Amino acid sequence: PTRQQVHNFAAGPSPLPTNVLEEAALGLLNYEDIGMGICELSHRGKEFKAVIEGAEADLRELLQIPDNYTVLFTQGGGTGQFSATVLNLLAAHRQAHPVPAEEFKPPILDYVLTGSWSSKAYAEAQRLCAAPFPNCPSFGEPRIAASTKSSSWTRLPSKDEYKFSKDAAYIYYCENETINGIQFPHDKDSEEGGFPFDLIPEGVNLVADYSSSFISRPIKKFEKHAIIYAGAQKNLGPSGVTVLIIRNDLLIDTTKIQNELGCLPCLPITYEYKILSDNKSLYNTPPTFPIYVSALVLKHLIKNKGGLKGLEDINREKSQLLYETLEKAEKQQKAKLVVRDSNARSWMNVTFNIEGDSEKEKKFLEGAENKGFKQLKGHRSVGGIRASLYNAVAFESVKLLCEYIEEFCEL
Ligand code: PLP
Repeated sequence: PTRQQVHNFAAGPSPLPTNVLEEAALGLLNYEDIGMGICELSHRGKEFKAVIEGAEADLRELLQIPDNYTVLFTQGGGTGQFSATVLNLLAAHRQAHPVPAEEFKPPILDYVLTGSWSSKAYAEAQRLCAAPFPNCPSFGEPRIAASTKSSSWTRLPSKDEYKFSKDAAYIYYCENETINGIQFPHDKDSEEGGFPFDLIPEGVNLVADYSSSFISRPIKKFEKHAIIYAGAQKNLGPSGVTVLIIRNDLLIDTTKIQNELGCLPCLPITYEYKILSDNKSLYNTPPTFPIYVSALVLKHLIKNKGGLKGLEDINREKSQLLYETLEKAEKQQKAKLVVRDSNARSWMNVTFNIEGDSEKEKKFLEGAENKGFKQLKGHRSVGGIRASLYNAVAFESVKLLCEYIEEFCEL
């Protein structure tokens, strides 16, 4: 099968490498010539076991994941992890502070808010922690450790704006805000706008949502993190699988802690990291097809794209070219970049507006569509334009988009 090649700038689900899709199409029909497709095989059979083990091994190689971290493939998306992180880490905190229920003090949960997704994660923590009955303590106290909401998410906090609690159950941040186009620079330290790893109090767990920047470049200070998670549907594979990387001491038997100590919200069993880990991601039926395609993508990235270094180089080049073109348009008041701080501009999601009335932007999008530039419309909550430059977007596509911007803006 073939298809017309367009330039797909979707924010997610996003494009996948064409050669991988061709191979996956074959695997869907007739996996390794056994007369059955991958979706027709038992998740406990030897064929799928090889797929999921291969995916883990390749991910470990690509990201250089240290041995004291567990890799899991699960369902529920990034949104599922907004809940799972709260529930598992409250249990970890309770285990570390086994005071009787009468002496229980809800721990602080520190959230860094830099855009729409971290705000949603914070809202979920508030919902889950709320006291179950009047006159009860809450399960935890979500708190805003830093926020750039008042700047409409157009910048990152400066170092002196972070206020972390020294005994928080965890600190949470979103490395790349997909909707707003804002990302923590991975090559800057905290003085220059990088994430303030140096301010994290000793022993406090750090959680990062890497959904939209996973495997696009190295993860800064990997070992400072307790949990890193990502939905697959940007850089890794089809929607339906979520990757979790969890430091081993956080695989907590939450039922035991609940029974022995109490003061915990109930955790749905498929969200417990220890259950998933004890069963090697096969406690229940995993999303076999998304895991299969993700496994193929990982092989392709290692073999053909130069691994993480190769991806970093090409992703830097793609985003640089587009930002330079938009800066040129901005100088001539033809376009405006949403994120004002150039250090905080996302490599993955480039957000901008075309200057002039709303008709002008509509015209830009129509013209783009006619030229085969697809899915450039900004998220429905913020409008404007968003070009997402995930791994499978070719440099050539970005170059052609830049030429279109120059033509449309008469640069
Ligand atoms: N976090 C980030 C950064 C995202 O971009 C998204 C979705 O786009 C989510 C979380 C939510 O993920 P899901 O739709 O897989 O639940």
